[in-house]
Amino acid sequence: DVTATKGNEFEDYFLKRELLMGIYEKGFERPSPIQEESIPIALTGSDILARAKNGTGKTAAFCIPALEKIDQDKNAIQVVILVPTRELALQTSQVCKELGKHLNIQVMVTTGGTSLKDDIVRLYQPVHLLVGTPGRILDLTKKGVCILKNCSMLVMDEADKLLSPEFQPSVEQLIRYLPSNRQILMFSATFPVTVKDFKDKYLPKPYVINLMDELTLKGITQFYAFVEERQKLQINQSIIFCNSVNRVELLAKKITELGYSCFYIHAKMLQDHRNRVFHDFRNGACRNLVCTDLFTRGIDIQAVNVVINFDFPKNAETYLHRVSSHDCIWCILIKVVWGHSNK
Ligand code: ADP
Ligand code: MG
Repeated sequence: DVTATKGNEFEDYFLKRELLMGIYEKGFERPSPIQEESIPIALTGSDILARAKNGTGKTAAFCIPALEKIDQDKNAIQVVILVPTRELALQTSQVCKELGKHLNIQVMVTTGGTSLKDDIVRLYQPVHLLVGTPGRILDLTKKGVCILKNCSMLVMDEADKLLSPEFQPSVEQLIRYLPSNRQILMFSATFPVTVKDFKDKYLPKPYVINLMDELTLKGITQFYAFVEERQKLQINQSIIFCNSVNRVELLAKKITELGYSCFYIHAKMLQDHRNRVFHDFRNGACRNLVCTDLFTRGIDIQAVNVVINFDFPKNAETYLHRVSSHDCIWCILIKVVWGHSNK
C-alpha cells in the first residue's frame, strides 16, 4: 500500500537536507501515493481534503510539509495537528520527532486528561509544532498561553472524527484564533457527507485527493529481507517442517507437482529408506527436504541454512530445535490467522 505510483522521489520536493535525512533514516525510500499527492500541494499553501485508506502513510503526508514549512529560528507555534485521541497524539508527535530528528523543531503534545499546569509551563518554552486534541488546545488558547497568531497550518487527522459533535465546536472556535493566511489540511479514510458544511465554510476550494478507488496491492502479502550480498550466495539447502506425517507427504507431493525437487522424510518410513534419503540429502542430491520434527534434534547439516516452518511449531522448544540444529541464516515462520473474511 505504501508503494509510489508516480515514481517520485523525496528529493523531488526540494526539502531541507536535515528533513530528507530524517525521512531516509526512518526507512522511507519513496513517497507513498498519498504522500506524492499531498506533499507538493501542501507546500504551496493550498488547503487539502485528502482521503486514503488506513496504512497508506497519511501521517507523513502532512508531517513532512509541516516540518518543511516551520522556520525553526522563529519562536512561535507554526503548525497545529489536531487528532481525536491521546494515543494518536503521542504516535503522531513521535513521527514528527523522528522525521525531524536532524532539525531543531520543538514538538509538544497536549491532550485532555493530563495536567493543564504542566502544559502551561511547557508553553513558556519554545514550541514550533503542537499536536493534540481540540478541547485542550482550545483551553490553552483561551487562557492566552497558547498563541496561534503565527500558526499558518492546521492539520486535522481523522478529520471526520474531529467533526463529530464531541469535537466540532472546539475545532471551529480554534480556527478563529488562526491568522487569515492559514491553510487547513484534512485527512481521513472516511468522509461522510456531514463534513460538507464544515468544508464549505472553512476550506471552500481545497485541493481534493481521493485515493480510495485506485488499484492497490490489496490481498498480496509481501515479504522482504535485508541481506548482505554474500548472504544471498549462501542459500544452499532448506528444510521445511510440517506437523504430521500426512502433511509432509501432501506438501512434498505439491512441491514436486509445482516442478521443484524435494525429498521428504518422516517417522512412518522404513528405517533404511529414511537413512538413504538422509544420506542423499546430506550429499546435496536435493536442495529441499520436507519433514516432521523427527528430524529436528541433534541433526547438523552444514548446508542447511533456510528453515521454513510450514506448520507453526507446537511449542517453543520445537521451534528452537528446528532452527538451531542447522547453520540457519533464514528462518521463515508461516502462521495462518483465521480472520473474519477467510474463515
Ligand atoms: P495512515 O495514517 O494512512 O493509516 P500511517 O501514517 O500510520 O498510515 O503509516 C502506516 C505505516 O506506513 C507506518 O508504519 C509508516 O511508518 C509507514 N510508511 C509511511 N510512509 C512510508 C513510506 N514512504 N515508505 C515506507 N513506509 C512508510
Ligand atoms: Mg493515520
